[in-house]
Amino acid sequence: MIVNDRLTSYLHSLDSRESEIIEAIGREARADRVPIIRQETGSLLKVLLKMNKPQRILEIGTAVAYSAILMSECLEPGATITTVEKYEKRIPIARENIRRAGKEDCITLIEGDALEVMAGLEPGYDFIFMDAAKGQYIHFFDDVLRLLAEGGILVSDNVLQDGDIIEPHYAVTRRNRTIHKRMREYLYELTHNENLTTAVLPVGDGVTVSVKKEQQEKE
Ligand code: SAM
Repeated sequence: MIVNDRLTSYLHSLDSRESEIIEAIGREARADRVPIIRQETGSLLKVLLKMNKPQRILEIGTAVAYSAILMSECLEPGATITTVEKYEKRIPIARENIRRAGKEDCITLIEGDALEVMAGLEPGYDFIFMDAAKGQYIHFFDDVLRLLAEGGILVSDNVLQDGDIIEPHYAVTRRNRTIHKRMREYLYELTHNENLTTAVLPVGDGVTVSVKKEQQEKE
């Protein structure tokens, strides 16, 4: 927890309720210990989507489609979400949840490893939500940048590792050291890459919001 518990509870108390289907899928996911976005991350996503009105959204890491369905409720008519998941056990549950939510026309679930799936996708996504294995974000980076349209938004979740990101390498448990190193590389890339403007926010477990620069901004 990177934000004080009491403050987080207070912020949650201010949030308006989600739709019935989102509440139900969220309850089921938490009961089954499926990792889903935190409430405050959901609120941030909704605001960004309402502000930017993207037409083509890509999500890396579907789990049971909680965040995909939540995002789908904030879209303009005609907008679509492509979401990628590799964990076979979660895929039928995600498909069933998309059906329950009546979002089959809007959400396309692609099964497979994100690295392989992204290699076959065409550029032009105006919103990408990265929420898969944290240690792999840096490996996804080149493809994500290729797929993101100029002026498009990249949101990456869980980037501050419950605060561990500020610890020196030796103070992190051995098991988490590789992720720690790769996440630091990823944050450095997001904040120093000439194609992006990035804010790192202590929201939920840490979220970055990046905008891909337009060509003329770089000249
Ligand atoms: N976005 C979801 C939500 O909030 O409802 C939660 C996603 S969960 C944190 C991360 C998901 O990414 C897991 O279900 C995991 O199986 C999937 N994942 C991890 N690495 C992946 C990869 N290389 N390709 C595709 N999916 C991956």
